[in-house]
Amino acid sequence: MRSQVQAPNNGRLRFQIMMVVVLLVSLLVGRMPAQAADNEGDPAVQEAFQQLQAGKRLKSERTYVTSEQPTVYLTFDDGPSKLTNQVLDILDREEVKATFFVLGEQAKAHPNELKRIVNDGHAIGNHTYNHVYKELYSDFQTFWNQVQRSEEVISNIVGIRPQLVRAPGGTATNFDANYYYLMEQAGYIIHDWNVDSGDSKRANVPVNEIWQTVKASPLDHEINILFHDGTGHESSVQVLPQVISYYKKLGYTFATLTEQVKPKQFAITKPKWSRNMSLKQFQALVDQTQQYAAAHPSPTELATKEEKRLAQQLGAEAEEKAKAKKEEEAEAARMLAKQAALPLQVHVLGGNTFAIEPSIYKLHANQIELPLRYLIEKMGGKVAWQADTMTASAHYGIYDMDYDLVNRSINLFTLGKQTASYSLADMNMQDNQIIVPLRKTIVSLGGRITNAVIDPDYREVSMALRPLHFFKENNTILTNSLFAMGS
Ligand SMILES: [Zn+2]
Repeated sequence: MRSQVQAPNNGRLRFQIMMVVVLLVSLLVGRMPAQAADNEGDPAVQEAFQQLQAGKRLKSERTYVTSEQPTVYLTFDDGPSKLTNQVLDILDREEVKATFFVLGEQAKAHPNELKRIVNDGHAIGNHTYNHVYKELYSDFQTFWNQVQRSEEVISNIVGIRPQLVRAPGGTATNFDANYYYLMEQAGYIIHDWNVDSGDSKRANVPVNEIWQTVKASPLDHEINILFHDGTGHESSVQVLPQVISYYKKLGYTFATLTEQVKPKQFAITKPKWSRNMSLKQFQALVDQTQQYAAAHPSPTELATKEEKRLAQQLGAEAEEKAKAKKEEEAEAARMLAKQAALPLQVHVLGGNTFAIEPSIYKLHANQIELPLRYLIEKMGGKVAWQADTMTASAHYGIYDMDYDLVNRSINLFTLGKQTASYSLADMNMQDNQIIVPLRKTIVSLGGRITNAVIDPDYREVSMALRPLHFFKENNTILTNSLFAMGS
């Protein structure tokens, strides 16, 4: 796992997103292919190769955060060495954090210093393995091998794979567009500097010269200042307290470099090294570096990945829920539609059986409603409508019923004589039809509902009616029995 040491949040380092720098997206090659890359013959890679050969930087997409406070990033290259402990003592006393771009070779020789850097809360960067320019800049493969070799050493000692890399000697005249591109494909961030303390201009640069150089340097909002803690840099150690105090007085805060800090990078200038790279070699390196990035995601990438995974999971769950709900609703609608489309089977005991089409009747509050005329006619009676009084007269056997729509009542006549008056509250008018409840109406007419089935997929009503011929022959009995049943 690639990681960095970050300064603990001591309250002074409150970062706020002030500016988000989105660098040009590399449209050509994705940074982290999940599958093993095989770019041979990939036209996008060929296109990238052409542009890089022409000296064009193809930057990967990355977001940086600018510090709220003016900030100094002290950086120490070429260590760790015996001097490192002195540097760490000063940083400790001054309570400031710094970044150490270490050489693999030096880390191997000074593991305890490396451990202390990490334990003291400073950041580690990779400065290649041996710092030999000729090896590093003769071809990218060697540079890349050294970065990995150094990373293995660091990882074995402190368990950290630094994502930050500083090119020995800086990138100017050393890096070309290919170096930048391939390092970024591998997931690294290249840091040059914007203030050079001048402590490595030559051997044993005097303290005062370093001091004058620092004082004469521009004061940017973010200062990435280059020092060295390798062997022979006693002057750097000696000047350090003065430098820290100088920036403190100017109101600067000190922090470690992180993945979020926008790196200072020199513009590409013509390399002083003669290098040749064929398209085939480039394709192989793109494969290598992308595979490396996929195998060693940075903590940020891991976090982003995890966030994405969680978001996807949550999204999938929400989608699943919505889908289930939709299906439920659809099922309910289907049920309703199905129920609405169910015919009502009517059995008249001792008589006929017929079906009432779903368009004719309605199931309302568990009671069947249907047009009066339809019902009476099905039973063999007749209905006449008097518009002036809003009354329907139903004739059925010995009964005459006046359905009074205004008063919502039924006046029942037996053999022409009013024998009863019922209130039929549920009676109403729809599409010029008087709609009445089945059960109450049947009962009013001297019949009864003997059975009713209201199932999701079946509706049936059985009723006993007084047959019409029965009225004629047994008037008296019928009249009595009707009113005995009530409504
Ligand atoms: Zn160096």
